[in-house]
Amino acid sequence: MLAIGLTGGIGSGKTVVSDHFAKLGVPVIDTDVIARELVAPGQPALAEITATFGQAILTPTGCLDRLALRQLIFNQSDKRRELEDILHPRIRAEVRNRLRQLVSSWCIIVIPLLQESAQQDLVQRILLVDAPAELQLSRTMLRDNIAADEVRKIIASQASRQSRRELADDIIVNEGSLDQLLQQVEKMYQFYDQLANSCQSH
Ligand code: ATP
Repeated sequence: MLAIGLTGGIGSGKTVVSDHFAKLGVPVIDTDVIARELVAPGQPALAEITATFGQAILTPTGCLDRLALRQLIFNQSDKRRELEDILHPRIRAEVRNRLRQLVSSWCIIVIPLLQESAQQDLVQRILLVDAPAELQLSRTMLRDNIAADEVRKIIASQASRQSRRELADDIIVNEGSLDQLLQQVEKMYQFYDQLANSCQSH
């Protein structure tokens, strides 16, 4: 199974890209979705997070208050590490579990902070969705209706564009229209499909 890690910074276009791969029939495993499922009420990971960070990261109805948690760990690498130690092994196990169930020669695994979370070993190839910071900013502001400063802070806390590019095997530059983005996905689809099927015949 050829697993392609799809990564990129906030608002770079990963969701548009992964949705299009899915539409083309490629199995997509999204680690953000897995992470959300892992912290649903009643899940052991949520109990561990609450034991570590306190009841203040829960909403009155007992759900994880993402904003509160994000503010608590923002720019605090030791706290961020504690959270990662709770979540990453579980995410990894669930990705492996889903991979075992797939019947396909290749798949996409969305790992937004691939570099920051050192999860490269889950994938054989890295596809970066790359966009200039100004576009990350304007698209995220529009999508989430949040202030420029908040997005800038998040961009600054993530890996740099240059270091992401150095790590990537393949790059989709998302600085044109949505149509141009989808065309690039279709090209990558052809490339990966050939690659996966030639791997299989050897
Ligand atoms: P995050 O990491 O924050 O979840 P993401 O990388 O998944 O972000 P998307 O949600 O795919 O990014 O894209 C961010 C926003 O920008 C979305 O509203 C999307 O529709 C829009 N967008 C992405 N690419 C383009 C484009 N080429 N032209 C116009 N809008 C775009």
